[in-house]
Amino acid sequence: MNEDLKKLIRLQSIDSEIIRNKAELAEIPARLKRTEVVLEGARSKETAFRERLERAKKERRSREQDLDEALARIKTLKDRVSEVKTNVEYKARLKEIETAETNARNLEDLILETMERVEQVEKGRTEVEAALEEANQAWEQTKARVEESARQLESRNSVLMEERNSQVASIQPDLYETYKNLMREKNGLAVACIRDSVCQGCNMSTPPQFFNELRASEKIYHCPSCNRILFHETES
Ligand SMILES: [Zn+2]
Repeated sequence: MNEDLKKLIRLQSIDSEIIRNKAELAEIPARLKRTEVVLEGARSKETAFRERLERAKKERRSREQDLDEALARIKTLKDRVSEVKTNVEYKARLKEIETAETNARNLEDLILETMERVEQVEKGRTEVEAALEEANQAWEQTKARVEESARQLESRNSVLMEERNSQVASIQPDLYETYKNLMREKNGLAVACIRDSVCQGCNMSTPPQFFNELRASEKIYHCPSCNRILFHETES
């Protein structure tokens, strides 16, 4: 087999792997972003839960404070019953106490409601916290995995780049020029295999005579359809 062709085949294989690795590296930010979005969702749900709980507790404290004030007022009113001078005043004072006591009972009902509300909100805690924990773990795992895979891809690519440089140095400059142009024009595939007279680069059939010549010859052939450099599959 043509020595130059062998080198080109190897070069193509190196370049194809470098391209694949780079594509995989380019995918990494999107992979991280997807997991980060899940984590952010879990975080904001947890924040919303805490806010809801805090509001419910604040409401309960506020009603408890109202009740303390109402009870203190009832006590003051009762303490001052002895100060009233007339029967009319006395009746009015009793009426005032009665109203204050009704108010206090209403507040007690309200406090019960706010306590139930706090309990109700608390029930969501386990789910929210478990989801956050899970999202955190997924994030940490994905990040570690992705970073490790990035390290491997980068180190693999630097090994490939070294091999590529020495490979390029051994190829005739005009042939390498042709290869480079084809790489640019043909979407990263300059050297294609030909199988059963079909070019695997463009999937077009070549004439039988062309195929026979290619197999018998030591020359470098280009695909009549896509112009890629061809090698017979037994040579791969
Ligand atoms: Zn072709």
